[in-house]
Amino acid sequence: MTVLESIRQVRDRLATEAKSYEAPMVGFLRDLIAIPAESRAEGPVIQRIRQEMKEVGFDEIRIDPMGNLLGRIGQGKRIIMMDSHTDTVGIGDASEWQWDPYRGKTENGYVYGRGACDQRAGMACMVYAAKLIKNLALLGDYTLWMVGSVQEEDCDGLSWIYILRQDGIAPDLVLITEPSGLRICRGHRGRIEIEVCLHGRSCHASAPERGDNPIYRITALVREIEELNTRLHHDPFLGKGTIAITAIRSCSPSLCAVPSSCSIHLDRRLTAGETKECVLAEIRALPGAKHAEIAVLQYEQPSYTGLVYPMEKYYPTWVLEESHPGVQAAIETCQHLYGTVPIVDKWTFSTNGVGSMGICGVPTIGFGPGDEVDAHSVNERVAIDHLVRAAQFYALFPLVYAHHLEQEEAKGAGPG
Ligand SMILES: [Zn+2]
Repeated sequence: MTVLESIRQVRDRLATEAKSYEAPMVGFLRDLIAIPAESRAEGPVIQRIRQEMKEVGFDEIRIDPMGNLLGRIGQGKRIIMMDSHTDTVGIGDASEWQWDPYRGKTENGYVYGRGACDQRAGMACMVYAAKLIKNLALLGDYTLWMVGSVQEEDCDGLSWIYILRQDGIAPDLVLITEPSGLRICRGHRGRIEIEVCLHGRSCHASAPERGDNPIYRITALVREIEELNTRLHHDPFLGKGTIAITAIRSCSPSLCAVPSSCSIHLDRRLTAGETKECVLAEIRALPGAKHAEIAVLQYEQPSYTGLVYPMEKYYPTWVLEESHPGVQAAIETCQHLYGTVPIVDKWTFSTNGVGSMGICGVPTIGFGPGDEVDAHSVNERVAIDHLVRAAQFYALFPLVYAHHLEQEEAKGAGPG
């Protein structure tokens, strides 16, 4: 029997078995929602996931020095890694919530709570997919690592730069389980955080002519940046690059003194083809930035284990071509499972893909339960039907992908 025949045979059993895990999956998801874990405080939630991985019977479970959790299934040739970050954003103003965000609720086919879709659901589905792989013997010539990563909400991509450079695993593909509404995502815009500072000369505000007020000079730059935003590059797939001033700060010994410096904080979203170098050159070319100090900000907060792994706040754009075997295998997997052609799209928000593919160059795709619009909202939720479908997808995808690569290799080898 060929791999494809066995996939067809297993499809119905996979659907039935995944459906039978609905209640335990919802239970596990709600356990995860009940453990608050903002960035740099993921320890307890990592331990809860580790316990579930143990019960499912992962072949190896480890926690790296940064605190990322890595669970392995199988030991075949192709190496596939799936990611779910384990931190969530905070709850903001508690009075905006109509129920306890960490207790959540199950209602009308949805699970609600902080982290329900971003990203507790992805983790619950991955762990139960491993159970499906074990129970239905869906192992193939692949090694599958399921990762619970840290600090994504604080610094997207950081954990994956660490995993790929320090943990000694070289995957063929990374699959991100951020909410995608069960669409296949193959990229998103990047971003960069920049501080532009103009220096002046401080003096007593009662005689401003003795000094040089940088606030007056920075207003020209502010207008130039507003205008720059209107002429940034537009990419047909990813959309337009943008620039926004999100803060303005001056430094002065007192409110009765002309400040010595004034700086603006820039949030620059990068579309296809826009890099750190071109963005910095573009700002430097503005007349108002002539004597400015321009710096990309640094992230250097310790993880919950105390590890500091500094990174520039440059999160490069990434796009994987639609013809890539990873995207094609994801399309095939959806066709096998749901009998429909899936939508291939992009994310509006940023993910750990900026680290895995944007910086480290490992082909990356995305597929996740929950809808992007519900992430970070006070109505955060995920459809229970998505949990069941995504678990099936994660269980079958590695086999289809490994098979796809083998076919490509056979084609490449040619006759004789
Ligand atoms: Zn997320």
